[in-house]
Amino acid sequence: MTHHDWTHAGFSTRAIHAGQDPDPTTGAVIPPVYLTSTYKQDGVGGLRGGYEYSRSANPTRTALESAIAAAETPPTTDRTVGEPAQVRGFAFSSGLAAEDTLLRAVLRPGDHVVLPDDAYGGSYRLIARVFGPWGIDHTPADLTDLAAAEAAIVPGRTKVVWVETPTNPLLGISDITALAEVAHAAGALLVVDNTFATPYLQQPLALGADVVVHSTTKYVGGHSDVVGGALAVPDGVSLPGGLEAPDGSTTVADAVMFHQNASGAVAGPFDAWLTLRGLKTLAVRMDRHSRNAARVAEFLDAHPRVTQVIYPGLASHPGHELAKRQMRDFGGMISFRVGSEAAALDVCARTRVFTLAESLGGVESLVEHPGRMTHASVAGSALEVPDDLVRLSVGIEDVDDLIADLEQALR
Ligand SMILES: *Cc1c(COP(=O)(O)O)cnc(C)c1O
Repeated sequence: MTHHDWTHAGFSTRAIHAGQDPDPTTGAVIPPVYLTSTYKQDGVGGLRGGYEYSRSANPTRTALESAIAAAETPPTTDRTVGEPAQVRGFAFSSGLAAEDTLLRAVLRPGDHVVLPDDAYGGSYRLIARVFGPWGIDHTPADLTDLAAAEAAIVPGRTKVVWVETPTNPLLGISDITALAEVAHAAGALLVVDNTFATPYLQQPLALGADVVVHSTTKYVGGHSDVVGGALAVPDGVSLPGGLEAPDGSTTVADAVMFHQNASGAVAGPFDAWLTLRGLKTLAVRMDRHSRNAARVAEFLDAHPRVTQVIYPGLASHPGHELAKRQMRDFGGMISFRVGSEAAALDVCARTRVFTLAESLGGVESLVEHPGRMTHASVAGSALEVPDDLVRLSVGIEDVDDLIADLEQALR
């Protein structure tokens, strides 16, 4: 089957079409959910289309992986650095499964990771408490500060600089291009967790990053109905420190492919299908999330009971100018402080349109208390968050209803 080349198409065209040619047998416009574990061979080794066993590859997952790769591939005309590279996508059963597979592929005992001092709690737990006992060290640092990032590097041992931008839940903005230089000077990879920004709002590979990580559970899936993760890796990025994968691979993409199959935390076909459906509407949803969040942030900023609003779209945010350069818009996440833990818990208890729940990025608005919920696992560590902090995932409902809800919850 020959696939149309969508490289030069715009973001939404790629998200809707890449890897999703109509089914050659039936003409089905949408890739079917291939609920099969195995594939008939025409004679031993005679694979039809390369499929052998669904841990290794499944056509629904292939469609998602191609679409993710296309979404994270900047159109060639937008590329500022180097030749356009072929980007490869990999889909996993969760964001953490994607992270786990990547870290196993690129690290070995004795290596060191630099990560943000307000990283997603689960990423921190994975690096500190799962990889730690296997001999991987880490240093949390404020990666919005380049000098702090450089100081956290352990020469010869740092193999990964892990950055989230915006961070969760403090929405810090880090300079991807500058951090790529810091990482590369140290012989390390720059890995960007692009979950909050999404490939529509931010293209880390165009800015010099080596690997993009997603929890597709969030904005890419977009409907709070599926857990998943993804990696996007340009072909030709070498493993750090001259490492060779167990199968002899020397590039990150090949090593990830080996580990994805060898460890097996793959996305199932129905999960892949739901995620693919979400990806098609990512751009329109992100425009609306961003527009609603800007209005909600303005409302909170003017509210007497709110002591601080953290939103990169506000001129008062220290990363505002950088976010403007690096992102298409500012996204749907807002954090704000209300002076005491009791007041924060009270807001969380009183909203009606904003549902009290962990997670983010769905069409519906959510509210949570990071200190007791998403970030409870980092209490007492360098990643602890203020106890009067409330985090909003602003959905795509009518914004007047969202503001009225916060108004009554803060009264
Ligand atoms: C949720 C999240 C993850 C982990 O993804 P799961 O799909 O929950 O495993 C990683 N990074 C960020 C920024 C997240 O929000």
